[in-house]
Amino acid sequence: MTASILIIYTGGTIGMKEDPMDGTLKPFDFSQIMEEVPELNKFDVKIDSYTFDPLIDSSDVEPSLWISLAELIYERYEDYDGFIILHGTDTMAYSASTLSFMLEGLTKPVVFTGSQLPIGVPRTDGKENLISAVEIAAAKDYEGHARVPEVCIYFDSKLLRGNRSTKYSAEAFNAFASPNCPPLAEAGIQIRYNTDVIRKPIYWDAQLRVQTRLDTRVAILKVHPGMTPQVMRSVVSDPLTRACIIETYGSGNALSKDWFLDIVREAASAGKILLNVTQCKSGTVNMNLYATGATLKHAGVLSGSDITTEAALGKLFSLMGRSDNDGWVKTMLEKNLCGEITK
Ligand code: ASP
Repeated sequence: MTASILIIYTGGTIGMKEDPMDGTLKPFDFSQIMEEVPELNKFDVKIDSYTFDPLIDSSDVEPSLWISLAELIYERYEDYDGFIILHGTDTMAYSASTLSFMLEGLTKPVVFTGSQLPIGVPRTDGKENLISAVEIAAAKDYEGHARVPEVCIYFDSKLLRGNRSTKYSAEAFNAFASPNCPPLAEAGIQIRYNTDVIRKPIYWDAQLRVQTRLDTRVAILKVHPGMTPQVMRSVVSDPLTRACIIETYGSGNALSKDWFLDIVREAASAGKILLNVTQCKSGTVNMNLYATGATLKHAGVLSGSDITTEAALGKLFSLMGRSDNDGWVKTMLEKNLCGEITK
């Protein structure tokens, strides 16, 4: 049976063209993208499209776009076998991460893709990214189930789990990395699916549920040499901050200075949710390894394990949107909800 795919176009370099007036890249419409990729007509796939208005550079992405995307997928869920989201690369990992927490009971692929060079230029990476994303979104196993029922990112021959991905290069075609999780698939002559890594739903007949309440009262503090108590306090102790991601060194270590630990303790006892995420791209927080990490744990900071900052943000937005109960949010934060941490 012919598969059907909905391509949702939000903007990004893939659909941009140079404005002759000032030389900057500006978005063009979806029909022009399809004209650039006639190869798509060779697939036995029915392709529909939905274009967001306005089209945006993904640096302008707001949680309201994620809510619109989740609602659109929910409304059209029964009509399609898979969804492709054309999106700018700058915040693609944030969007894919957050969507993975918002779409519960997913049994179909939601594949984000885009490109480093616009689709209309001769050396574009956009064509291959789009063509392979369509093939992956339409792929079924021998039982007729989706091969990748996950929110993922396809870029430069690799399919990565969305909530494990991070934008890694501002220039290379190979723009995304997923250091703590192997690729879900790799495209060579054939697309090879890494079936041991791909998550499967508990029930294939599960109903999709979307969670569209997001609580964005999250701050990110990147610990660095020379950080002052004033700057740290303004981020962590702001009354509008419900949770703070503390980006620490190495395996979850930070300053052992009294003022630093005092601010952490004050924030924890004021009820702030504090999550320790490493600044390293690869590896995990282990607050039992060094004294500087252990003090954070005793001060009330939770371990983010090997989560990315992008996924930590989406997980907090989504869990806090679901409940005002901080105890529940803290318990859920340390659980592996949809493949975002190794547990
Ligand atoms: N600034 C662009 C965006 O994120 C970059 C890209 O698409 O690659 O929308």
